[in-house]
Amino acid sequence: MRLLSAVVPCYNEEENIADFYAEFMKTENFFQSKDIALELWFINDGSRDHTADEVKKLNEKDKRVHLLSFSRNFGKEAAIYAGLEKANGDYVVFLDADLQDPPSLLPEMFAYIEEGYDSVATRRVTRKGEPMIRSFFARMFYRIMKKISKTEIVDGARDYRLMTRQVVEAILSMKEYNRFAKGIFGWVGYETKWLEYDNIERKKGETKWSFWKLFIYSLEGITSFSTAPLAFAAFMGVAFCLAAFALIIFTIVRKALFGDPTSGWPSLVCIISLISGVQLFCLGIVGQYLAKTYMEVKRRPIYLVKEEI
Ligand code: UDP
Ligand code: MG
Repeated sequence: MRLLSAVVPCYNEEENIADFYAEFMKTENFFQSKDIALELWFINDGSRDHTADEVKKLNEKDKRVHLLSFSRNFGKEAAIYAGLEKANGDYVVFLDADLQDPPSLLPEMFAYIEEGYDSVATRRVTRKGEPMIRSFFARMFYRIMKKISKTEIVDGARDYRLMTRQVVEAILSMKEYNRFAKGIFGWVGYETKWLEYDNIERKKGETKWSFWKLFIYSLEGITSFSTAPLAFAAFMGVAFCLAAFALIIFTIVRKALFGDPTSGWPSLVCIISLISGVQLFCLGIVGQYLAKTYMEVKRRPIYLVKEEI
């Protein structure tokens, strides 16, 4: 008998756990008919509410439900990694606890795995119910990423994915500390089938991603999967050297023809402030990569466990 593991990252999701379980178990009959057993891993990412208790309640009734609690909030990326490490299944699927990733899609997803795909990914084609400004920046992010990264990062891609053991092992072999799952999934390759669906709004509770958190996360994505900003910094350096060279020639010629060495103070101020701004900006880019490298060489664990059931 084969096994399917569902990994559910949870951060303050006490209201959603029971609903999620009920909804997920609706697929039980389908998988039984395929001779596939189920297991559920709730990864409690340092919740400050009763998420862990809710999972324990489920565990008492159903031993296929497992809990892994972190010592604090490590972020969804860490939860995904932990879930992959714990999952025993021949197939693994990630779902959000808020039912934004409908389990009812699983039979269709599984059909593609049987067809021979290594992984079945989902993307939402609408962003209904999301603030306009957030959608705008999200689109910008994907457009920029497409230009500057060789790794395919799909617009609207969710972390809702079903994958085979082979893909799971591939992802586990990427032990980087700065994790950007959307990029990692693309980086490992394999035959991926994309399914599309309309955005579903969260059932209960509220989103854990503030605009600022998303912004930082997008920088993570860029620095993890592209070095184009570094090339951009170098390009700016060359461009400004050329401009400076032209200005020097211009100044010498003007002095030779017209004299007047003292005028031009305002323009000098503008030039100095512009160039020092550009310099600090480029230094900042280098600093971002240095910071990532610094965190990476520390080789800290991606997550720490407090409790496992
Ligand atoms: N999540 C998590 N750790 C975090 C933030 C979120 O494990 O630090 C989980 C959360 O419980 C949910 C999923 O990641 O199951 C997606 O989060 P959310 O629904 O808040 O994001 P959105 O769907 O709004 O992008
Ligand atoms: Mg959500």
